[in-house]
Amino acid sequence: MPTYQYACNACSHEFEVVQSFSDDSLTKCPECGGEIRKIYSAVGVVFKGSGFYKTDSVKKKNVSEVTTPAPAPAPASVAPSSKSD
Ligand SMILES: [Zn+2]
Repeated sequence: MPTYQYACNACSHEFEVVQSFSDDSLTKCPECGGEIRKIYSAVGVVFKGSGFYKTDSVKKKNVSEVTTPAPAPAPASVAPSSKSD
C-alpha cells in the first residue's frame, strides 16, 4: 500500500495517508477541512530508465603551458638598486 503525504494549504498541517491505488486522493484537510496538496507519493517518483550522460569524452584543451615560477613576494621596503655612480 503506497503512502501519500499531504500538506494543507490553509493550516500547513502535514500528514500521511496510506491508500490503495483505487482510493481517491484526499482533497480536504482532516484538521481544518481546507484544501490540501499532495507533496509526496511513495510510488511514481522512481528514477529509472535513461541514465546519466558521461561527459568525460570532452577533454579540456585550455590548460596553460606557461610554467613561470611565481615571483617571491618582495619585502615591504626594497631600495632600488639601479643606482650607478
Ligand atoms: Zn488544514
